[in-house]
Amino acid sequence: TTAIRIEDVNKIYKASDGREVQALTHIDLNVKKSEFISIIGPSGCGKSTLLRILANLDTPSSGSITWEKSADNIGFVFQDATLLPWKTVYQNAKFPLEVKKIETKENMENLDKLLELAGLKGFEKAYPRELSGGMRQRVAIVRALSYNPDVLLMDEPFGALDALTRDKMGIELLRIWTETKKTILFVTHSISEAAFLSDRVIVMSPRPGKIDEIIDINLPHP
Ligand code: ADP
Ligand code: ADP
Repeated sequence: TTAIRIEDVNKIYKASDGREVQALTHIDLNVKKSEFISIIGPSGCGKSTLLRILANLDTPSSGSITWEKSADNIGFVFQDATLLPWKTVYQNAKFPLEVKKIETKENMENLDKLLELAGLKGFEKAYPRELSGGMRQRVAIVRALSYNPDVLLMDEPFGALDALTRDKMGIELLRIWTETKKTILFVTHSISEAAFLSDRVIVMSPRPGKIDEIIDINLPHP
């Protein structure tokens, strides 16, 4: 079944000098439920724009996006972890649970598990300014996973991490995904990361937003 249907989506930005930038051109994409899709492509081809539109942080200029009913619970992790500076690691990580009023025993235990997996045990009381960029990013990942969203949108979530942490987080992400069958859209610069993690790799061409080809890589998952 289809989780997200993206039909003929276009996005035109007006730059400050009045010039128009076509960031997305005729994007058509069906995202199946429980599918893990990686999106790769050169800088400026519209990957972030597409994810921001899916996260409802921006609107398309034309076209439509249809969500399957059960797929409207979205978590997102963007490159620059926007943590609340006045909250601790723990308070940041559990913030969505607080806002959604779902601080159940099960969710709180799951949160502890996620903090441990992300190597954040012992840092619960630290403030974002006291952490490295990589650690902040890990808090943002934990925050996004904390309430078990059906769809996860990730824009270069490991971009700020060192190679070792990146591998560990990638493997962990894959484990979580295979266990929980989430629908994941994952923007990355790393072809090996894309090939290792996903069911399908979408290549966006340097011509802004045009999806060139869809490669089904069919790698057996561990
Ligand atoms: P990518 O994530 O693939 O690097 P982006 O989605 O960030 O690409 O950007 C696609 C194009 O849209 C680029 O040419 C970029 O400069 C332009 N763009 C993105 N955001 C804005 C904005 N807020 N205003 C104007 N142009 C933008
Ligand atoms: P700020 O820009 O003020 O630091 P954020 O951008 O981190 O705030 O988050 C804005 C709102 O979206 C917050 O109320 C937060 O609870 C919620 N939120 C933050 N991250 C996620 C996420 N990954 N998935 C879903 N909701 C989130």
